[in-house]
Amino acid sequence: MIEQKKIIEPEIITCEVCFKEIPISEAKSDKATDYIMYYCGLDCYDEWKKQEDKSNENSRLGEDLKS
Ligand SMILES: [Zn+2]
Repeated sequence: MIEQKKIIEPEIITCEVCFKEIPISEAKSDKATDYIMYYCGLDCYDEWKKQEDKSNENSRLGEDLKS
């Protein structure tokens, strides 16, 4: 019996920033602790990073927020 190889469907993920659906192979990913985030491209990755940096700044440099 010949075992036919299944064509593996590309897994579809949703961009964390713009919620566009893209195949996982084309996604940019970033491992944050134990959760992997996916982005459709560097633009969205940068966008997400900016938000992350901001929230990190807020918790770490709370006293510097006043200007
Ligand atoms: Zn996106």
